[in-house]
Amino acid sequence: MTELSEPGTPFVVSIHDVAPASAEPCRRWLADLDERGVPATLLIVPGPWRGPALPEDPALVAWLREAEQRGHELSLHGYAHEGVQGGSGPRQLVNRVLARGCAEFCALDEAEARHRLEDGLAVLDLVGIKPVGFTPPGWLASPGAYRALKALGFRYTTSHLAVHDLSSGRRLAMFALSHRPGGFGERFGARLMRHAGARWARRGTPFRIALHPQDLARPGLREAALDAIDAALAAGARPYTYARLVETYPRRRPTGTTGPAGRATTQHPVRRVRSGK
Ligand SMILES: [Zn+2]
Repeated sequence: MTELSEPGTPFVVSIHDVAPASAEPCRRWLADLDERGVPATLLIVPGPWRGPALPEDPALVAWLREAEQRGHELSLHGYAHEGVQGGSGPRQLVNRVLARGCAEFCALDEAEARHRLEDGLAVLDLVGIKPVGFTPPGWLASPGAYRALKALGFRYTTSHLAVHDLSSGRRLAMFALSHRPGGFGERFGARLMRHAGARWARRGTPFRIALHPQDLARPGLREAALDAIDAALAAGARPYTYARLVETYPRRRPTGTTGPAGRATTQHPVRRVRSGK
């Protein structure tokens, strides 16, 4: 394994819920990131979600594959992005309250999780997309889902607090800053995102920024996210996709350091493009 050589705190920007029903706001988010040269991880919902399944939207498929060629990562984000019946009472409560009913992998046993993951992979394979990583909807996965992900050879999965390298078993602590559009805590979340990005970038605390299509329906949330990304870049933080992060992050950071240690490797920033927005 190589280690990061570049100075700067690593951070990951992800665009969630990429699907035909959310194609337009996803395009707007990615245009903002392209303008900044920030490589993103696009979390795709391949099955039907609020509209048709991915293969029914060839324009979106073409756009995704072009994004991948520019240096963005395409990743799997559930199959249908919906809560499923079953699991313990506490897990169902977590699904309803924390994940607003979208925690598809929160309560599945290993066989059920494997079935949904295989369905998702099969749909992506149909359109030539081969993801190495997974993020469960609502960032919630059952122990059975973890086992299924590992058995299917996924390189990593993520939770709200960490990135989990499934090949080495390492857990990279990285809090995900995320908006709560239209709900309790929207203003608090936006303030936290705006201020934490720059602060953590300066302190050397790795972090993530999660962008959702519905953020763009609320005033101020786009600006808060872009301010956080711009402040992190200005503070010298370095954006990674999840896939590159798990490939290149040091096995163990020396205690007391304020940034990634080590040597070698290269990071390939996304080619900057102008969108006119
Ligand atoms: Zn989602």
